[in-house]
Amino acid sequence: MRQVEQVLSPRPYHWVGDGFKVHNFIPALMPMERMNPFVMFDYNAPYKVPASSTPRGVGVHPHRGFETVTIAYQGKVQHHDSSGAGGIIGEGDVQWMTAGSGVLHKEYHEKEWSRQGGVFQMVQLWVNLPQADKMTAPKYQAITNGDMGRHQLSTGGFIEVIAGKYQETAGPASTFSPIQLYNAKLQSQEKASFSLPANYNTALLAVKGSAIINEKDELPVNHLALMENQGEKFNIKAQEDSIILVMSGEPFHEPIAAHGPFVMNTREEIMEAFEDLRAGKFGYLED
Ligand code: MN
Repeated sequence: MRQVEQVLSPRPYHWVGDGFKVHNFIPALMPMERMNPFVMFDYNAPYKVPASSTPRGVGVHPHRGFETVTIAYQGKVQHHDSSGAGGIIGEGDVQWMTAGSGVLHKEYHEKEWSRQGGVFQMVQLWVNLPQADKMTAPKYQAITNGDMGRHQLSTGGFIEVIAGKYQETAGPASTFSPIQLYNAKLQSQEKASFSLPANYNTALLAVKGSAIINEKDELPVNHLALMENQGEKFNIKAQEDSIILVMSGEPFHEPIAAHGPFVMNTREEIMEAFEDLRAGKFGYLED
């Protein structure tokens, strides 16, 4: 049995630009190495965005050495990057952007959605790239909710598979290292079981509702359960209609050098990223 190591309460929020009101779990509450390959985890708990003719968000900024994975739970996000890729994701969709060797991008609430305003809820994960793939070409995967694998449980709920596999159901995301990323969408009192390799770093976020893990540990809404790296199987029982985000990945044991928007292996590579940014090697994107 894989047990809970710690249930973490969300720390006070901070703003990313003027559109994303986030509680940071990684690296604020644990070092990047602890949940590698998930090296950054921001959770935008539900908040009411007032109507605005100018979409809120965050302007042009660079990334190199990892992937940004944005999961929209409520509201819509619009994205553009210097490779020419971009798109809009709405409720239940995921945007998986491989920054690799480097992109400039901007992230905003979608224009039409912004005019009305509404409740906004989102997760952004940074998925580390193995050393050999850090300078891979930028790539963009728009994953709609309908594209996701869906494992129907006999009790009414289902497991939505974004990446990896839940039993025989596979998710559409292509990844550079083994990753399992699911939304368990459970009805009140419904149970789901998971079996993930012990060495895979694993955590659960209660996006909606609350759950009991292994019949004993309570996971309240907006809290993160960090699982031990011993044992494989665990189960969750929804206390009400719930969405539990399950993330699990095989760690790669390589040094992490991170600074601002860059996640590399050495300090020299961070310096190089700043030089390449100044030299215009990340391309161009209009603000
Ligand atoms: Mn970004």
